[in-house]
Amino acid sequence: MKKDITPSTLVMKFGGTSVGTSKAIEQVTENIRKTRQKWDRIVIVTSAVGGVTNLLVESAERAIIGDEVFISQAERELIDKHLDMVEKLIPNAAQRAQLKQEIKYLATEFASICRAISILGEATPRAMDAVISLGERFSVRLLAGALQAAGFPAQFVEATHLVETDDVFQSAYPNLEKTAEKVQSILIPMLMQKQIPVITGFIGATKNGITTTLGRGGGDYSAAIIGATIPADEVWIWTDVSGVMTADPRIVPDAQTIPEVSYREMAELSYFGAKVLHPKAVRPVVEAGIPLRICNTFKPEEKGSFVVKEKNPSEPQNIDSQRVIKAVTAIPHQRMITVEGRGMLGVPGVAARTFGAVAATGTSVPLITQASSEQSISFSVPSDSADAVLESLHEVFSTELAQRDIDRLWASDEMAIITAVGAGLQCTPGVAGQIFSALGAAKVNIIAIAQGSSKVAISLIVKAEESNKAVQTLHQFIAS
Ligand code: ASP
Ligand code: MG
Repeated sequence: MKKDITPSTLVMKFGGTSVGTSKAIEQVTENIRKTRQKWDRIVIVTSAVGGVTNLLVESAERAIIGDEVFISQAERELIDKHLDMVEKLIPNAAQRAQLKQEIKYLATEFASICRAISILGEATPRAMDAVISLGERFSVRLLAGALQAAGFPAQFVEATHLVETDDVFQSAYPNLEKTAEKVQSILIPMLMQKQIPVITGFIGATKNGITTTLGRGGGDYSAAIIGATIPADEVWIWTDVSGVMTADPRIVPDAQTIPEVSYREMAELSYFGAKVLHPKAVRPVVEAGIPLRICNTFKPEEKGSFVVKEKNPSEPQNIDSQRVIKAVTAIPHQRMITVEGRGMLGVPGVAARTFGAVAATGTSVPLITQASSEQSISFSVPSDSADAVLESLHEVFSTELAQRDIDRLWASDEMAIITAVGAGLQCTPGVAGQIFSALGAAKVNIIAIAQGSSKVAISLIVKAEESNKAVQTLHQFIAS
């Protein structure tokens, strides 16, 4: 927190479960009350009420096939869900009536767009965004209303007026310069008047004002963009877990919150970390030197995790950044595909054609290994893509297979990718050895190894049935 005379500014983003029930919103209100005592200026960014975005996506999909019944039911559900919360949160009759009207108005908009989709029989990405952006448009009104009812000077703001993006609907990319201009002209005056803006996460608009969305889970990204453009002193992401954990607590019961995690470590935690924080949310704030905190709406007394810039090795390190391994994750449901043949040695282009064949199936590859003998390339793909990938490889290499330059193309049984993440891995000799010895002692068979080029992670492929044991074994390095 800033101690000088410039006012301190905090951006807080609340996820879908944090605004999922009237009780949760009461908790949010309480958290904001406490936070306000320590910060001069507060900006709120919110997700849609939990489950609403999914319902909107499904409605648009059903609309394409003309399912009018579903649309009518969804409209009713959207109204009931939000009105029920309005009833519980807004005691003042006039305010309540006003808010109910706005919610009904948005629900009507929802039904009209869905009916248009249904008539056309297709939903363009732009039409999809018009539908799925409604969740946050409901929730900002609800949350701002609840905060007003609790006595705060809250005011909802649609991010279409703030976040300018390109026109890649469904996964729009923000223009930070233009966004900064809008933030300066709209948000800063509100803050100077001591208002609390409550902004729709997830949403932006093209330069012509057409609504876009930033991709599923993009509310975190919105908070980061707004935090970076104000610029805020800190950005806090309020969710339903207490930050980034050392491992999945369902696998490792004594898993703990990691107090500090670096930008690169967070990136290596992608699969596992992405459930806690949208991967794109890290860069804008961390590059601007703004600390990002992940904390638990329902356990506000816990510190959660801070995502911070890498420390220079010469700077004083705290115990946490010295830890060799900070987290262990497992990506389940993988199969290793191997392309093997003596005729591959020194032949350029085999790897390119291999991954070209994989890409043609729309599959992304989380792990690749090739030994210097060049006689085989192995990589993992999600299990349910393995057959399609094999088929595509058979096609691409039909000549080589016929000539026996490639002897075999095959997929393994179910595997898991185990990843140990920690900045200490790059400068601590012997860790890999310790990891392998420990896994050996636990009788976990390592099928393949890859080290991320960022050097803050080592990934191992193990059999699916040995996955939990591998995670538990590696987690002991963190505990010790
Ligand atoms: N409501 C959006 C979603 O569910 C964005 C978010 O919650 O971050 O994907
Ligand atoms: Mg999220």
